[in-house]
Amino acid sequence: MKIYTDPRLLAAGIVGGTLSRHNGNMCDTDAQTPVYKELDIPPQHILHLHQTHSTHILTINTPLQAQQIADTPVQDADGWLFTLSGWGGAILTADCVPLFLWDSNGGPFSLTHCGWRGVAAKLPFQAAVALKKAGAETICAWLGPHIQSCCFEVQADVAEQFPSSCHRPKNGKIFIDLTAEIIRQLTQAGISETDIKAPYYCTCGDKENFFSWRRDHIRQNLLSFMYKL
Ligand SMILES: [Zn+2]
Repeated sequence: MKIYTDPRLLAAGIVGGTLSRHNGNMCDTDAQTPVYKELDIPPQHILHLHQTHSTHILTINTPLQAQQIADTPVQDADGWLFTLSGWGGAILTADCVPLFLWDSNGGPFSLTHCGWRGVAAKLPFQAAVALKKAGAETICAWLGPHIQSCCFEVQADVAEQFPSSCHRPKNGKIFIDLTAEIIRQLTQAGISETDIKAPYYCTCGDKENFFSWRRDHIRQNLLSFMYKL
């Protein structure tokens, strides 16, 4: 299994990361089951949601709440916030940013699906603030593989929804640096820049390892998940 992750996650008691396309198309939750089994995670304790490019984050504080989410049809939301262990959440991406946030002291953790709409609507900032309110003291951040500014060309109507600090003009075209904008929002929420890691993997530019909606226009998704031991 090829999994992109950050060693600081496991140090905080969290199993998680983003899988490469070599593990297959993860649109179907059944396709995810072998992954969790291989990692000794109970598949029924990974929760799923229906992503709508919103800023809605589902917060899970108790095993009862977690079980209720597990037992009902998936809800519309674009992120998770867990304050308990023994449970976790999944999201799916194909160019959007899987944003991992967690308390370095083993407290709450959050996983959000940040497409350009979510980033423009300040979902990264909101996720960080919510995590703080949930009790996180020192927040670590890791941005999983996503479309980078080399490939993320947009038209003026999209560009104007972002501050000029993340515009990357090239040959008369406008490209947006989602990574830079997310880091800006996270630092605005009080996270230290040294606690934010954003390795340069471009889903659109690296066909060998990633699915990309922009490149292929096929509904194939990479799995990202977080589970607290
Ligand atoms: Zn690229």
